Amino acid sequence: MIKDFEHFAPKTLKEALALLAKYGDDCKVICGGQSLLILMRQGLVAPKYIVDIKGLDELNYIKDGKDGLKIGATTTHRTIEKSAVIKKKCPVLAEMEKRLASIQTRNWGTIGGNICHGDPAGDPAVVFIALNATLTVAGAKGERNMPAEDFTLDYFEVALEDGELLTEITIPVPPPRTGAAYTKFNLIESDLATASVAASVTLGSGDGVCQDVRIALGAVAPAAIRAKKAEEVLKGKKITDALLKEAGEVAATEAAPVPDISASEEYRRELVKVLVPRTTKEALARAKKA
Ligand SMILES: Cc1cc2nc3c(=O)[nH]c(=O)nc-3n(C[C@H](O)[C@H](O)[C@H](O)COP(=O)(O)OP(=O)(O)OC[C@H]3O[C@@H](n4cnc5c(N)ncnc54)[C@H](O)[C@@H]3O)c2cc1C
Repeated sequence: MIKDFEHFAPKTLKEALALLAKYGDDCKVICGGQSLLILMRQGLVAPKYIVDIKGLDELNYIKDGKDGLKIGATTTHRTIEKSAVIKKKCPVLAEMEKRLASIQTRNWGTIGGNICHGDPAGDPAVVFIALNATLTVAGAKGERNMPAEDFTLDYFEVALEDGELLTEITIPVPPPRTGAAYTKFNLIESDLATASVAASVTLGSGDGVCQDVRIALGAVAPAAIRAKKAEEVLKGKKITDALLKEAGEVAATEAAPVPDISASEEYRRELVKVLVPRTTKEALARAKKA
């Protein structure tokens, strides 16, 4: 049973931040409510005040700027999935959204709510880490930016200070000859990932050497993580199947899976060994065509 609370629906970001500053610890942000309401119903969270930002249109946008794509926090998954500019400039993001939950969930759930919920099995954070995205958060003291990989801290824990809101995600313009891919493994279609991998590969001009690579893992640690040691296996080399296999094995040692009803720790590590080579190979193929 949900405990009584007072509901605020601010019209502007400024108003929302003032409410968060005023009510502090007793207060929770709600956007789509798809994750928060479950926690409230289970009695795991019982805020006295709720600041509802779903109606904040100033955070509902997709912009194609000089420094990359900018997505406002209240933008729904479905809007991102269907966006022509996302499909053109960052197809991996649209592909990821298509695999996230059902259309009903994507129609109402927001990108900001998803990232801030901090579910280690959430899809977007993994892709944002691989794409080297930057998150912008705002609070009473102003704005700050951080790399996506620094935002996911632990099991359902993200790097938001009290009174802060996530406002925007920026995906930088990729260097030439860059390709990205995302693979989600789940047992039930439209369910959360049992394991997921996102990879971005940048090739050097002409020589086919891997100039840069970013590999991110989901659902195989208490938070979405970057597999830096696996990246080192590939960086500066011509990627071969043998190197991809090695990268998968190294990534499996970087994972720290939490066993649950979907899969054991061992099974998840095995998935990493398979999904890292598969996803990175797809990113490589796309980089060759970019
Ligand atoms: C049936 C079902 C299936 C799902 N399957 C998947 C899946 O396959 N993959 C996946 O990734 N997700 C999945 N989800 C999660 C779903 O995508 C998220 O619930 C949704 O994206 C969260 O967004 P929301 O707007 O509903 O957030 P809310 O529930 O409103 O908020 C979630 C959390 O984020 C905080 N918050 C919200 N917005 C902000 C903000 N801008 N700044 C700071 N804090 C904020 C809230 O305080 C709360 O702690 C599923 C959910 C359901 C109900």
